[in-house]
Amino acid sequence: MITSKTSFIALIGNPVTHSLSPIMQNAAFQYLGLDLIYIAIPCKDEDLRLVINSLKKINCKGLNITIPYKEKVFDLCAEVTPVAKTIKAINTLKLNSNQEWSGTNTDVGGFIYPLKDLNLPNKEGIILGSGGAARSVIQGLINLNFSKVTIISRNEKSLNELMKNFKNQSQVKGLLNSDDQINNLIEEADLIVNTTPVGMKKESNNANNVLPYGENFWKSLNSKTIVYDLIYNPAPTALLKYCDKKGCRTIDGTQMLIAQGLKSLSFWTNGLEVPFEIMSNALKKYL
Ligand code: NAP
Repeated sequence: MITSKTSFIALIGNPVTHSLSPIMQNAAFQYLGLDLIYIAIPCKDEDLRLVINSLKKINCKGLNITIPYKEKVFDLCAEVTPVAKTIKAINTLKLNSNQEWSGTNTDVGGFIYPLKDLNLPNKEGIILGSGGAARSVIQGLINLNFSKVTIISRNEKSLNELMKNFKNQSQVKGLLNSDDQINNLIEEADLIVNTTPVGMKKESNNANNVLPYGENFWKSLNSKTIVYDLIYNPAPTALLKYCDKKGCRTIDGTQMLIAQGLKSLSFWTNGLEVPFEIMSNALKKYL
């Protein structure tokens, strides 16, 4: 029950109405018996500083940050963890002992969660897309000791920016999706990760059945490759259904979504853990 002692954690972004974090986190708080609620707060760009600074002064115990503010909150944090600095994105804040915001990123750990027991050192990975999520995925594959990580993108500008960010990692390379090495790379890949939004649920067109970069791109895929799609709605996507038919192991985006939420909760509560199923069962009605 909400009482005068109840405190809160908030999601800050714009828009926030699509977010599933309130569903997952409130189920977890209830499971742990915490006197805490999770709410989503839409915030305009020009109000971001005022809102984040004001939340420090009231009964707010932590924050999640989503699009488009994951880079903008760096200035508002007194301390930032190394992982957030490396991928230049913060998605979770808590108050430190001086009542100042401390920022971290739980997307890298969330991404790794379904891969960590698959014995992947020295494997070859391909990442499709060069946007925000690709940064977490690159760092995740570096942490898992992949020997080769190739980013395939249609966007030369964002691909070059990404390459600059990881220029000290010789195993990370970028290619445009028109490159003629792609068939061979797909054939040899141990893991392919889709970070493009191609395949996301849409209201009124047939984009739901489209594969990233078109069906021809996938013709050399073979059954030894693991295919991981970050999209969680729908789960599985058309891509994962196609790869499943080819005999590949597939991983959908719900695992990353839940695992990053578990890691945020642990950051806010200094280490409390919730079973994966608590968040996953709460989400079932909404996906
Ligand atoms: P983003 O920053 O907009 O990046 C999307 C990337 O995909 C860009 O490189 C973009 O290229 C490319 N792209 C867009 N449409 C494309 C198309 N039709 N064909 C080929 N490439 C295309 O988005 P993001 O934040 O990285 O998120 C990407 C996806 O990951 C979303 O579906 C999101 O829901 C999902 N995600 C899931 C989780 C999870 O927890 N499961 C976490 C984060 C993100 P251009 O710049 O040329 O458009």
